[in-house]
Amino acid sequence: MELRSNAPTGPIEKRWDQHKFSMKLVNPANKRKFKVIVVGTGLAGGAGAASLADLGYDVEAFCYQDSPRRAHSIAAQGGINAAKNYQGDGDSIYRLFYDTVKGGDFRARESNVYRLAQVSVDIIDQCAALGVPFAREYGGLLANRSFGGAQVSRTFYARGQTGQQLLLGAYSHLARTIQSGKVKMHPRCEMVDLIVVDGRARGIVTRDLVTGKAEAHLADAVILATGGYGNVFYLSTNAKGCNTSAIWRAHRKGAAFANPCFTQIHPTCIPQAGDYQSKLTLMSESLRNDGRIWVPRKKEDVTKDPASIPEKDRYYYLEEKYPAFGNLMPRDIASRQAKFVCDEGLGVGPEIAGVRRGVYLDFAAAIARDGQSAIAERYGNLFEMYERITGENPYKVPMRIYPATHYTMGGLWVDYNLMSTVPGLLVAGEANFSDHGANRLGASALMQGLADGFFILPYVVGHYLATAGKSTGVDASHPAVKDAVAAVEKRVSTFIEVGQHGKRTVDDYHRELGSIIWNHCGMARSEKGLKQALAKLPELHADFRKNVKVLGSGEGLNRELEKAMRVDDFFELGALMCRDALERDESAGCHFREEHQTKDDPATKKYGGECVRNDEKFAHVAAWEWKGEGQAEVRHAEALEYEFIKLAQRSY
Ligand SMILES: Cc1cc2nc3c(=O)[nH]c(=O)nc-3n(C[C@H](O)[C@H](O)[C@H](O)COP(=O)(O)OP(=O)(O)OC[C@H]3O[C@@H](n4cnc5c(N)ncnc54)[C@H](O)[C@@H]3O)c2cc1C
Repeated sequence: MELRSNAPTGPIEKRWDQHKFSMKLVNPANKRKFKVIVVGTGLAGGAGAASLADLGYDVEAFCYQDSPRRAHSIAAQGGINAAKNYQGDGDSIYRLFYDTVKGGDFRARESNVYRLAQVSVDIIDQCAALGVPFAREYGGLLANRSFGGAQVSRTFYARGQTGQQLLLGAYSHLARTIQSGKVKMHPRCEMVDLIVVDGRARGIVTRDLVTGKAEAHLADAVILATGGYGNVFYLSTNAKGCNTSAIWRAHRKGAAFANPCFTQIHPTCIPQAGDYQSKLTLMSESLRNDGRIWVPRKKEDVTKDPASIPEKDRYYYLEEKYPAFGNLMPRDIASRQAKFVCDEGLGVGPEIAGVRRGVYLDFAAAIARDGQSAIAERYGNLFEMYERITGENPYKVPMRIYPATHYTMGGLWVDYNLMSTVPGLLVAGEANFSDHGANRLGASALMQGLADGFFILPYVVGHYLATAGKSTGVDASHPAVKDAVAAVEKRVSTFIEVGQHGKRTVDDYHRELGSIIWNHCGMARSEKGLKQALAKLPELHADFRKNVKVLGSGEGLNRELEKAMRVDDFFELGALMCRDALERDESAGCHFREEHQTKDDPATKKYGGECVRNDEKFAHVAAWEWKGEGQAEVRHAEALEYEFIKLAQRSY
């Protein structure tokens, strides 16, 4: 397998424009002759399907929800970055590029990141034109707030519902193309396999979630925009339906999987309240604009009423350790620091398995400074959500927060044209690995999804189709298509047969899988822990395949069957995450190997616990090649070159 990034060369600010000019075009009259499948109708897929349909392609789109409006993008709260520099505070495309490469701890491709920063400005115009109600200043200009890892305010937002408003915008665009017959929409339809003929992606196999029917859909190009795989951890901020199956099944058909161990843990989530819990809730990073994070300095204070703890006994650990960025440190560092103080016994809230895993996010100073109504104006719905879940009023008592799994930087490997290692299979949004390196900055995922969907797919899909031409000679009777459908039917019937006598529920296995991955491949990783996880996972997976309980039949709606097939894929992915984390013998961004960290330096007053990268050995993307069930995957490396931003130890 060869990993060619196909990234252009030359001055970075001209690369995308020149590349666009050098790409081939499909003549307008020919576009309708090409069929394009788009799996996923969140921000990336919804924007992509609608834009391609507007260009004239024949598009079929798929999602497993009952409506594209329910894609997980709807959950995004805080905002979307764009280098508009409306604030006049020193922002620029170059600064967004710089912050993103540095934020990702120098493990992303420069050309891709620059392009992302460049098109960010167009996204805001496009979305405003679609009617997205971004927050505005009194004078009418779009408002901005700050997010982690940046010293400028470049985050556009719609209260705490930015994802919902953006998705409604993209969805209305998509709905218009569905209505006009340019997009055929298949809701409640899950992609369960990829069809590859002569090395080229030619279609997908789906399972209708209502009738259970397995069916092949053929096309000239297939786009996966199927979101992230954070639910491998069981407990996460993702919607419960988010899964890895589409990209995992494509991986098994030849698409390399890049950096699977790069998973983001978000610092501000509502802490877990008990063992029975199945979902975690994010409190937007935007809250760190005004909330101050602290824990008691003394262990004996952790159960006290926080209001009774005097200022001198409060440990504002981020403000003390990182005065320049304070509470707006990037997510990976803010999360690790919360873990460290809780490990030291300074955490607050309920004790679970002997440790209190919570820190305060306190708005008292902001309320005293700006007044409660100003804070309610900025974060009202988030405060209300917090109170409904915890029963505590955050205007009166500090919120309690703790890190939780939130986003996956890993995903299918793609080149600059969003093409995977299977020609004809393109990957967009969170499903690909491309832009965030080892750590994503807040408000950059919505930006990437819409950049891919609105501004990159329309060019690169045309280039591919103009180059590869129309796919011919493949229809439902082709052996590769028949085999793919038969394999899906066999997989379903095996789960049903075994499942009737199963002993443990899917969720029970998933919970155990998640706790192994969280404990050994979560916020901190070590050689010993990863090896333990790698020893346990195959055993648990084999047991799952023998003893999982799946009642009912495969011929209709069967939620346990859906979950079982997804968890089966999570098992294989989880093992690959651990292998990837083990092989990457360095710390970078979210990937914190305990063996590679800085120590406290009293001379410079620098605190330890930071990542120590090994650029000589690991300044690359690791992309894994599937070799067959039970076979070890093969690791390939795409070297990363830093021509514009000097490789340096991150310092905040
Ligand atoms: C709680 C929360 C808050 C967030 N807040 C922010 C924020 O403020 N700013 C920010 O930039 N980012 C935020 N993020 C991240 C961001 O929301 C996501 O990264 C982004 O929305 C992903 O968009 P997407 O289009 O790639 O995928 P999704 O929106 O997840 O869409 C995936 C689509 O794929 C479909 N699909 C998946 N698998 C299959 C299959 N096998 N067959 C058929 N269809 C399939 C689904 O039905 C869906 O339509 C947040 C994430 C979370 C969890």
